Amino acid sequence: METVALFDIDNTITPPRQPITKQMVDIIDRLSVSFSVAAGSHLSLLKKQFFEPLFKFGYRKQFSAFLSNGAIQYQCDFSKKISINVVKSFDIRKHLGETDYRFLLETIKATQELPAFKLPSSIKVLGDTIAFRNSMVNFAPIGRLKEEGTNAQLNRKNFVEFDQSSRYRETVLEHLNDALSSLIEKKDLKITLGGQTSFDIGITGKDKTNAVRTLFDIGFKRVVFFGDALFEGGNDYAIRAFEKNTPPKPPLSIETVQVNSYEETIKRLYDFNFIKK
Ligand SMILES: [Mg+2]
Repeated sequence: METVALFDIDNTITPPRQPITKQMVDIIDRLSVSFSVAAGSHLSLLKKQFFEPLFKFGYRKQFSAFLSNGAIQYQCDFSKKISINVVKSFDIRKHLGETDYRFLLETIKATQELPAFKLPSSIKVLGDTIAFRNSMVNFAPIGRLKEEGTNAQLNRKNFVEFDQSSRYRETVLEHLNDALSSLIEKKDLKITLGGQTSFDIGITGKDKTNAVRTLFDIGFKRVVFFGDALFEGGNDYAIRAFEKNTPPKPPLSIETVQVNSYEETIKRLYDFNFIKK
């Protein structure tokens, strides 16, 4: 098959932060083109939301999955049981090397402690502020808890308002880009705003575009990507930037489709004629 439909997971083929529905699994099962996913989250977080219900609702095929912001490639074989194997891994810590990795963490900590970046007293730091996520490092100035209770939700809301009125993260981002310019230059470090409260620190190319390039390498000619965050600053944006700035040469082609829910994804799949009758 020459065409592959590549999907973001959260809010593209699932309801927001909820498991994939039987209706969507039936649609995926009826695709007339190949199926693949590129997700921001990592495997352990996606088991309950995507992989287990996909099998439970009867999907029995093989497909490629690109997780951890697209940087880690897995081969999935659901013909008899859930089988997920790493094909190509990526570890930002190994990529940077121990000295530069430590420099990165120390720079983030030092940034947090600068008087200019002190958070107002109404905003608390709850949980860890720095998280290692294999392919990238996430920095959340207000911290992150495993489970967010009402206090943490309120704290997050306060931070979002503060950030919007003071451009806090943009200022911090400028500082980080400056303080980490040596790693940006020699190790392709890339810092972006992540979600509403944090920073994603990764490596250029080790993002969802890795999925697109790998699918071309595997032999697909046409990749159609569906995602709910293709706007600038969104976590699908790397693919749209790739489409705009470095499109592949014919006969290869890439298309990107912005959706706002999994129901909309289903409609668009019908528009593309990707669903078997
Ligand atoms: Mg999404």
